[in-house]
Amino acid sequence: MDIETDHVSKNFIEREIDKDLENGTYQNIITRFPPEPNGYLHIGHAKSILLNHGFSKKYHGTFHLRFDDTNPQKEKIEFVQSMLEDVNWLCGEKIENVFYASDYFEQMYELAVKLIEKGKAYVCDLTADQIREYRGTLTEPGKNSPYRERSIKENLDLFRRMKEGEFPDGAKSLRAKIDMSAGNINMRDPIIYRIARMTHHNTGDRWCIYPMYDFAHPLEDAIEGISHSLCTMEFEDHRPLYEWFVNECGFETKPRQIEFAKLYLTNVITGKRYIRKLVEDGIVDGWDDPRLVSVAALRRRGFTPGSIRKFIELTGISKANSSVDYAMLEYCIREDLKMTCPRMAAVLDPVKLVITNYDENKTEYLEVANNQENEEMGSRKVPFSRELYIEREDFKAEPPKKYFRLYPGNEVRLMNAYFVTCTDYKTDAEGNVTEVYCTYDPETKSGTGFTGRKVKGTIHWTEAKTAVRAEVRLYENIVDTESEEFKKQGIYNEDGSVNLNENSLIIRKDCCLEPALAKAKPGDKFQFLRSGFFCADSKDSTKEHLVFNRVVSLKSSYRPGV
Ligand code: ATP
Ligand code: MG
Repeated sequence: MDIETDHVSKNFIEREIDKDLENGTYQNIITRFPPEPNGYLHIGHAKSILLNHGFSKKYHGTFHLRFDDTNPQKEKIEFVQSMLEDVNWLCGEKIENVFYASDYFEQMYELAVKLIEKGKAYVCDLTADQIREYRGTLTEPGKNSPYRERSIKENLDLFRRMKEGEFPDGAKSLRAKIDMSAGNINMRDPIIYRIARMTHHNTGDRWCIYPMYDFAHPLEDAIEGISHSLCTMEFEDHRPLYEWFVNECGFETKPRQIEFAKLYLTNVITGKRYIRKLVEDGIVDGWDDPRLVSVAALRRRGFTPGSIRKFIELTGISKANSSVDYAMLEYCIREDLKMTCPRMAAVLDPVKLVITNYDENKTEYLEVANNQENEEMGSRKVPFSRELYIEREDFKAEPPKKYFRLYPGNEVRLMNAYFVTCTDYKTDAEGNVTEVYCTYDPETKSGTGFTGRKVKGTIHWTEAKTAVRAEVRLYENIVDTESEEFKKQGIYNEDGSVNLNENSLIIRKDCCLEPALAKAKPGDKFQFLRSGFFCADSKDSTKEHLVFNRVVSLKSSYRPGV
């Protein structure tokens, strides 16, 4: 089964597309994802990308990636590049049909002229404030602009002169001539073009007038022959205007707009405004900080395109807004990685364990399966000797009730090795444990079929001499939207500080990893026994200084359908 074409069961959009194909309204399905290059793509955009791309595959149609670059003020080539990378990565292929709205500026201008010639657009001298005032409210109709009845000839002349830079920014605008008393405020003579001297990343200073989104967007779709223009619910009220522009501009094939609800996720921050501030204040390490849910951040943290696709599939498509639990995303990445990642030992908070009856000069190599659930992944040799590291929390001088790990007198299994019994331990002046002493029983070697006795605890370890040092970064959600604090204050506290989850990033500097992990390259993923799935950081990890991000812990509170 191809996940790309089958990842969405029949939803309301597919049913509409099926109808449109059956009754011959469209012969070919052409979808698009139209981001404005003014930031990084996030998990919500991923939904739109995968839906549109998925439909194009399912219906053997075409998918366009179109940069909606009609507002140069906030747009940057850096964002275009990151979006290209993210979309290709998510879709699992290099998108061939990449377009730029700015390539249509000439055509859009010509279509605006056509509207003027038809008496459907006029140049207006009202200021932005006045236009707002004249627009009326939901309960009151608007008033006609005093410039509404200019002659076609005068409008053509003024519009040309707007383009030629004869008027200052904001002095005039071109407006559609529709109906100032329309119930739908979007239809009350919306602005089509504004004067604004801005350098565009593609067209430079060629234009000093720029088309407004509501005019530009339907034309972009129509020019490209898009069949289904999928967008989020907030554009529902704009649909009549979308259709008006397509019709009045005389397009033969008319794209059909269909709206669906945005994807919202709990305990994350997606608003560009907030993320920009976190980046500027140095609270996060750029737009791809692994605590964020930009596509770049998810990739850096260790999410796979497959896990994101699975997640989007589970969230479904609807018209009602709702918020999806972050745990569902975690479930998807766990499912994706559990069979494919090698399982290795990493001690994140090491304390030394000495096996006093093990030969000082001996090292043995134990054969260990790379993934017990996936035999195809083979096995490796892991060194074992007298001195090892174990997790600090796996030893307690005074064990609480139901503690089955190491404490004086207790026997546990060292994973893939031997049973050891704790005989003693050493502490420093402050009472911190510095070394734990054990004896081992050579009869209990793993894989030899020993059945003599059972132990309740199994702990992992790494051999001390060969252990590789690494930095490990443990993440939690960046905010806790369920906390009282957050409910009261939101993201910002009264003093302007950010209301972050204090444990969103915990850095462990001196972790001890088994030697095979020395070869980890940026982006490589592993299961660290008992602690979760980890990914070598693509920004900071080097051969000399390994850095791993925890993608997700092993345990889950989420089960689909429960
Ligand atoms: P944001 O303000 O969150 O960055 P945006 O709507 O300003 O998002 P655009 O570049 O305008 O970003 O959006 C590109 C496409 O992505 C649009 O079709 C939009 O409807 C869709 N989109 C944006 N956010 C979401 C979301 N949370 N869920 C699904 N689709 C989304
Ligand atoms: Mg937007």
